[in-house]
Amino acid sequence: MNPVILLNPPSPPGMTANREGSGGMGVLVHGPGGFFYPPQTLAYAGAVLLREGLPVEAVDAVAEGLTYDQAVSRMPEGERLIICHASAKTLEHDLEFCRVLAVARPDAMLLLAGTALVYFGADAFAVFPGLPLLRGEVPYLVLEVVRAWARGSLDDAPTVVRARDAIAGILTPAGNPDSLPRPAWDLFPHYRYPFLTFQGSWGCDHRCRYCPYVLGMGRPRRSRSPEKVADELAWLEREFPKPRYMLRDPAPAADREWLLTLAREIRKRGVRTPWECESRPEHLDVELLRELHRAGCSVMKLGVESADGDLLQAWDRLLPGWDTRRYLDHATGVIHACRDLGIACRAFVMTGLPGETEEGLQATVGFLKVAGPALVSVKRFARYPGQSLPPLSPSPVEAHTLERIESEMLSAARPLRVSLLRQARGRVGKLVRRMLLRG
Ligand code: SF4
Repeated sequence: MNPVILLNPPSPPGMTANREGSGGMGVLVHGPGGFFYPPQTLAYAGAVLLREGLPVEAVDAVAEGLTYDQAVSRMPEGERLIICHASAKTLEHDLEFCRVLAVARPDAMLLLAGTALVYFGADAFAVFPGLPLLRGEVPYLVLEVVRAWARGSLDDAPTVVRARDAIAGILTPAGNPDSLPRPAWDLFPHYRYPFLTFQGSWGCDHRCRYCPYVLGMGRPRRSRSPEKVADELAWLEREFPKPRYMLRDPAPAADREWLLTLAREIRKRGVRTPWECESRPEHLDVELLRELHRAGCSVMKLGVESADGDLLQAWDRLLPGWDTRRYLDHATGVIHACRDLGIACRAFVMTGLPGETEEGLQATVGFLKVAGPALVSVKRFARYPGQSLPPLSPSPVEAHTLERIESEMLSAARPLRVSLLRQARGRVGKLVRRMLLRG
C-alpha cells in the first residue's frame, strides 16, 4: 500500500491559513507568515495510522510557505489517498486547491477532512461535486477510512459522504480522548513551528453564542487524563524542544480539580519549559493561578470579551447568578493576581459584535485601562455556521471609529516587568520575582 498523505494545504496567496484555530473552525489571517497553530489534528491522525503499522507521510504547506504549484509538486504521482485538512474559514480556498490537485494528480483519491465540514458539506459539494468528505473528528475516523481505501473503496466507510443530504449539521463527538496516541510531530516540519501544542480537553459545556469552539469541538467537554497530558508535555520537552508550549483546551479550568491535578503532575515530571493556557475569568482564583504558575504556566489568555453589560447578557456570556459588575470585578482580580504572580495575562476582547455601541466599546477600553493586563488581543467577531445569534442589529459603529477604539484597547496593555524572569523557577527565581514585584 502506498503511504497515505496528510496534507495541510497551502495558504491562499497573501494570507495565512490557521485551520486549527477557533476549535478547528479555522481562522484566515491577512498577510503571509501570520499566526497559525501546528496541524495537531493531522499529527493525531498520523499517529493513529502509524500505531496500526500503516504507511503515512505528511506535507505542511502552510509551515513551509508553499504556493499551490509547489504543494502540488510535492504530491507523489500514482494511486494515493491524500487527506486534505479543511476548515470553515478556509473552505473556499481549500476547495480551490483540491480542484488544482485533482487535475494534476488524476490517479489520487482526495478526501477533504475537518470537523467544520459537518456544517459546510453542502457548500463543498456545490463547488466540487463528488469530492468525498470525511464527516467528523479526523483522529477517530481516519483509520476506518484508510482501511476502506486499502480495500478498494472509500464508500465502505460510513463517515465518508459524497452527497449533500448525508451532512449531519452538528458535530457528534466520536471517541475517547485517552485512546489517542501522542501526535506524530516527526511526520511534520516541526522545526518550523515556534511552539508546539498539547491538548487537554475538547469542547465546552458553556453556551456563549459567539463561540466557535463549541461548534468545532462539540459538547460535552471531554478531557484526557491529566497524567497523560503531563506525560505528553514532558515528552514534548524531551523530544521536540521549544521555547514554549501551548495547552489547547478552550476551558481547562472548567474542572478545577482536573486542572489542579494537571499542574501537580507537570511539576512532578520536572518540566522546565514555560507553557500557556486560556480560561474564562470566573473559573480562575488565586490559589489555582499560583499552582499553575508553579507548574510553569507563563501566559494566561483570559477571555474577557467585553465590558458592555448589555452585550454580555445578550450573547449569553454571564454565568447563572453573575451580573456584569461581579464578572468584571472578578476578571480584574484575575488580571491583578496574574501580575502579582508573574504570569503574563493576555486579555482577549471582541469587537464588531452585532448590538455593540460606541459607549459599550469605550466601557471595554475603560475596563482594560483599570485592569491593566500585560497583553491585549482584540478579535473581530466572526460568523460561523451553526451559531445561534441573538436578534441584534449590526454594530452601527463606523469602521474608522472602531479602528481607533481598537488601538486604544491595545494600548491599554501594561507589559509585565518580570517578563525576563517569568521563566525563572525554583527558589532563586521566586526571590528575584519578589524583589521585582516589590519595586
Ligand atoms: S466558555 Fe469559552 S469555550 Fe466555552 S462557550 Fe464560552 S467562549 Fe466558548
